[in-house]
Amino acid sequence: MEKFEVNKDKCLGCGVCTVNCPGGVELDTDGKAKVIDSDKVSGCGGADVCPHGAIEKKEA
Ligand code: SF4
Repeated sequence: MEKFEVNKDKCLGCGVCTVNCPGGVELDTDGKAKVIDSDKVSGCGGADVCPHGAIEKKEA
């Protein structure tokens, strides 16, 4: 199964990913996004959930 994570250096905290993939990504207390369900992110389009390239596929 694919795993995704947020590259916090690239994340702008814009929240677009939480709209594109509710339940897959949420904004963390630091104002950046975090992946809470990789399967959901995968179903929402994977890395494309973030238009800024901050969601990256984790190599297994
Ligand atoms: Fe915005 Fe991408 Fe960060 Fe989500 S992961 S808050 S879409 S920059």
